[in-house]
Amino acid sequence: DAAINRIAAGEVVERPASAVKELVENAIDAGARRIEVAYADGGKTLIRVTDDGCGIEAESLPLALSRHATSKIDGTDLLDIHTFGFRGEALPSLGAVGRLTITSRVGRAEAASISVSGGKMGAVKPAALSGGTIVELRDLFYATPARLKFMRSDRAEAQAITDVVKRLAMAEPFIAFTLRDVTGGGEGRVTFRAEAENGDLFDALHGRLASILGREFAENALRIDATREGLRLLGYAALPTYSRGSSVAQYLFVNGRPVKDKLLVGALRGAYFDFLSRDRHPAAALFIDCDPHLVDVNVHPAKSEVRFRDPGLARGLIVSALRHALAEAGH
Ligand code: ADP
Ligand code: MG
Repeated sequence: DAAINRIAAGEVVERPASAVKELVENAIDAGARRIEVAYADGGKTLIRVTDDGCGIEAESLPLALSRHATSKIDGTDLLDIHTFGFRGEALPSLGAVGRLTITSRVGRAEAASISVSGGKMGAVKPAALSGGTIVELRDLFYATPARLKFMRSDRAEAQAITDVVKRLAMAEPFIAFTLRDVTGGGEGRVTFRAEAENGDLFDALHGRLASILGREFAENALRIDATREGLRLLGYAALPTYSRGSSVAQYLFVNGRPVKDKLLVGALRGAYFDFLSRDRHPAAALFIDCDPHLVDVNVHPAKSEVRFRDPGLARGLIVSALRHALAEAGH
């Protein structure tokens, strides 16, 4: 129902960057090896995500746009969530607040597309596409002009989109990412690109670190690999000299999801406490992996906060592993 979708959309889609996050996560879930994100006017007039993933069958397109029709939660185990998407509400929500068109093709079947605008779904139509999926979202919040007022400048929204794409790109180093600003039409301008990395996870992450934070940064980063009571921490942390004036270079992930969690940010700060003044922020790309039952990632619809069953364990692991690495590097 359109009204419920619009209300839910407020939780799922706060701004263009949150729409980008949902769409790129869907592409990742679909097994894409290549993902391109294009946006115009800070994402307000256009967001387009193109992937080479598994695609959606023509007859499933209306279902993908129907609220909770695709929810992977059957009520038996809320915590047993292995893919990004688990609530089946991103596409219906986006279709309620913008003009959404999905074009998709599965294998050798014919490509098809469907559009939804202001919650009203059109018919499935034949389309042309060699494979994968293109999701195009135009005029975000045109149906809810009140929300438009809360949007910031195109530049600020573009910055937020860039940040979201870089966070997901850090989490998925084996996938190639391209970000394009197509304001004014045409091919636009590539604003970020990361080729697919190879090798083991550390090799791949190291390469991706160089694409996102720079080669010099990657070459001087400390490798982190520690485990404690079922919690694994791995990734790279920077020497104190590579700290930043803000937390933009802190990439934190829990079971593959980008998070901006107070506990984890605090632990990171704690590890560098002796080496950094209050106005400096350590740079790092750190992944915590654990049994899904040891952490609740469903705290907020935007899914960026987490709740550990044992917060002290997570904090202790981060502080001790990073202090150890810093000590080995001579700090
Ligand atoms: P969720 O991701 O929580 O399942 P969404 O509303 O984000 O819900 O997506 C609905 C469904 O549409 C997904 O479960 C998936 O089956 C399908 N889907 C969405 N985007 C893609 C994509 N890029 N490639 C293939 N399937 C997709
Ligand atoms: Mg989803």
